[in-house]
Formats: sequence, C-alpha cells, structure tokens
Amino acid sequence: MTAHAFDHAPMANCPFMPVFGPPAIMFERGRGTELWDSEGKRYLDFLAGIAVVSLGHSNPAVAEAVGDQLDQLLHVSNFFANPVATEAAVKINDLLLDATGHRGQIFFTNSGAESNECAIKLARKHGGRGRHTIVSALGSFHGRTLATLAATGQPAKHEPFAPMPEGFRHVAWGDLDAMRQAVDGSVAAVLIEPVLGEGGVHPATSEYLQGIRELCDETGALMMVDEIQTGFARTGRWFGFEHAGVSPDVVTLAKAMGNGMPVGACWARADVAAVFQPGDHGSTYSGTAIATAAVNAVIDEMQRIDAPAVASRQGRRIVDALRSVPGVVDIRGRGLMLGVELADGIDAKAVYVDLLDRGLIVNAVTPTTLRLVPPITVTDAEIDEAVALIIASLAAYGAGS
Ligand SMILES: *Cc1c(COP(=O)(O)O)cnc(C)c1O
Repeated sequence: MTAHAFDHAPMANCPFMPVFGPPAIMFERGRGTELWDSEGKRYLDFLAGIAVVSLGHSNPAVAEAVGDQLDQLLHVSNFFANPVATEAAVKINDLLLDATGHRGQIFFTNSGAESNECAIKLARKHGGRGRHTIVSALGSFHGRTLATLAATGQPAKHEPFAPMPEGFRHVAWGDLDAMRQAVDGSVAAVLIEPVLGEGGVHPATSEYLQGIRELCDETGALMMVDEIQTGFARTGRWFGFEHAGVSPDVVTLAKAMGNGMPVGACWARADVAAVFQPGDHGSTYSGTAIATAAVNAVIDEMQRIDAPAVASRQGRRIVDALRSVPGVVDIRGRGLMLGVELADGIDAKAVYVDLLDRGLIVNAVTPTTLRLVPPITVTDAEIDEAVALIIASLAAYGAGS
C-alpha cells in the first residue's frame, strides 16, 4: 500500500483544503510518459493529469514556446490584443471550421468549468427570456462551479451545496426518447459529452448524437458538446463529435489544449457567438499570452505528429493487448480514452493502488472500471510495459482463478 505524500504530518498540517483526500504521491519530475516521485521512483503515467498532458510531460516544443514567451510578454488585459492569443484563436477556429463546416468565434478561459460557464451564459442569452433550461445527461461531468455543477448529472454532488442554480434538467445517458421528452420550448441548449468521461468512459453512439442534433434543429435549442476531455485528438479525431458526423453549435475545450498550462475555450458558430455584446462576459486572464503560447505549440505539434492518427493506432494496440486478459470483461472507449471493465469481484480501486505500487498510474473511474488516458506520445514499449503490469496486477487479484 502506497503511503500518501503527507504521511509524516497530520492532515491538519496539510497546506491544502481537504477536498481531494490525502494526496498519494509527491511527483517532482516528468518526461514524456514517465514521472519520478520525491524518492526517485519511476512511474508510467497512463492518466496524464486526467487527459491533460497529451503530448507528454515536459514536451520540448511546448516548453520552448512557453519559455520564449516568458521573455516576450505574459499578459496585457483584454482592453488590448496580443499576437499569441490571436494566432491561437485563428488556429482553433480553423480546426473547428474543418470539423463542423461552420465559421465561429472563441472565448478563452482558464479551465474546463469556465468554458462550460461561458457556453451556459451564451445559451441563455441566445434562448432569451423563458428559454433558459440546459438539458444534460445523468452521469455526466461538466465542472465544479455552481452552474456547471448544476449541469453535472450527479445529484449526490449537488446535495451539500443546495440550493443549486435553477434551469438545469437531467436525462438518462444514451436514451434518445428521454431526451426527446426533456427538450421542449423552454430549453436553451443540450450539453453533452461525446464520450462520458468521469461517468465511466461510455462513448455516445452516432445515432444518439445525430438524434440530439435533429432534436435541436426541430426545437431551436443549441447543441453544445463538452469536448473538455475528448478534444484535441484524444479519441482519434480532433474532436469526439466527429465520430458521429454531427456539427454542434457550441464546443467547449480545455485539458489537452495547454498540455498542462491552465487554459480552455468556448467556441460557438458565428451567428450564435454574435448574441454576446461587450460586457456580457469576460475574464482577466482570457487569452493571456503565456497560456496561449502553449496552445499554439500544442496545435502545431499535434498537427506535426498527426496526433489523431497516432491516438487511434496506439489505442488499438492497448485494446488488442488487453481484450482477452483474464479479469478484463470489456474494454471500451475511443482512441486513447479507454475504460477497462473488470470482472465481478475485482475492485478497481484496489487495482489502482496496486498498480501505483508497481509503478503504473491509472485511475479507477468507477468501482469496476479503470480509465486509461496516456499521453498520445506513448511509445509501443511503454504500452507493452503497462499492459504487463496490468496483467500481473489482475492476476494478483485473483483474475482467472
Ligand atoms: C475535466 C472536465 C471538466 C471540468 O474541467 P476543469 O478544468 O476541471 O474545470 C468539464 N467537463 C468534462 C467532460 C471534463 O472532463
């Protein structure tokens, strides 16, 4: 059993608010898929900061861009423009023009929750008075701010913070009939993940996303896709919705967008974005040069290595290697966003802790599911090493016996 990083101090002496539980390990250094803790032990990181460090730890291209930017300009405020954010905005608008067929505009944020906050405000302004409801899925995750928590389809997470902001409705994930019943004339938008991430790595079917698109077209509600975890090549396409061949009105981004720099964005089709007027929304750090320098480097580097193709190839390598392993009953997901469903009686949390001891970082996203979201730059040898560790761990937990 791994000791937690503040083992030698009572929790009261921990400098952090106790919202995350005792941190397991103190990490000091990373390179590519590898991390080293404060005792010098090496780990393979198949969590990548929860699908954030998609180009690997200390990616040289990102580090160089951010380092150079430190000497140029960090921040100027939104009364003024800076060339770095402008370049990043054009790049993202171009990627989404390719993916959706629509010209659009973006607002830069500092996190995923803020990207969804922007989308929710945009949907309310677009819907107008009396049309402000946001419909999302049970089991979804959209963030921790009050509005994004209200959109998150996990009632247990709402309960301690009641009253929640009003205007949010939840329906069973993947159930188009339930969605049809929920989307009436009071609905401003549907907010949906193309692969349910925190909810256990469940990909939406094409029919589901296409059905939501049709429903939104019929009712005038916006189709808003939360690509915070799936975006930027993770699923084998630049954006998760592309697998279904649908074209959303609003797309929210963060996580891999900065490869660890805290940055996100809300994109909307130009005619939707046009409902915002000066003063409607803002953020001190929106489009700050130091964060958007990382975004430019991430996009350039992902294009250079053809990250979507690499993610789908390496994802297949993992699926092929784990599919028939004793203790694994199912492996689902897209590209390098994978959920490994364990056999009855194997506790995913225990396997997660055991794998940490063996030097592999994954995460138990549900009591029965391990989530694998390694850097897209993960090598064949690293995949083989991780698979061997998972096989050994499952064998130790009685799989196949
Ligand atoms: C991580 C995540 C968020 C929240 O992003 P933060 O940066 O933690 O605010 C929202 N939606 C999805 C799908 C996510 O995976």
